[in-house]
Amino acid sequence: MRRVGVLALQGDVREHVGVLERLNVRAERVRRPNQLAGLDGLVIPGGESTTIAYLLTTSGLREPLARALEEGLSTFGTCAGLIMLSTSVSDGRADQWSYGALDVAVRRNGYGRQVASFEAPVAVRGVGDVPGVFIRAPRIEEVGADVDVVATYDHGDGEHPVLVRQGPVWGCSFHPELTPVDRVHQLFLDSMSEALR
Ligand code: GLN
Repeated sequence: MRRVGVLALQGDVREHVGVLERLNVRAERVRRPNQLAGLDGLVIPGGESTTIAYLLTTSGLREPLARALEEGLSTFGTCAGLIMLSTSVSDGRADQWSYGALDVAVRRNGYGRQVASFEAPVAVRGVGDVPGVFIRAPRIEEVGADVDVVATYDHGDGEHPVLVRQGPVWGCSFHPELTPVDRVHQLFLDSMSEALR
């Protein structure tokens, strides 16, 4: 059985674990550096990127995870997780850092504040419509040439990428783990199998 870690420092860890278990992979909570060993993939959940960043540093996971990303670990970041993987973050804290594993520029809370959270169908390439739950979601404002845009969404001001992939690293503005539709996670898991072939 494949082993997929869920970074379990803060955020909606349990929901991701639930999806992964429904999809028949072994979901393992990652709180310490040694728990990264031997994983086939990793999910970085939604939550609060400033808090996740702080806890990555205090837990000692910041550097080991940077190395794992450099070595090509299949990784899927949702919402705050996408922020953590991005190259550039605007409207962050002055000292906000991110891994730069996904060549995108994001704006924190770029779809509005908590009260402006919303749900809307998102058309995902090769999959069809999935429910998109956007909660203080990061807006992807720029994508690099090596980034594959798998889904866009128009919130009234033009299409913006909301699901992107660069090699083994995926990022999503919305929260597929908060709905019973597991197809976005399935796409990520399918891409892990591609890497093994
Ligand atoms: N706005 C949050 C942040 O900056 C992300 C929100 C979320 O993950 N639902 O981390």
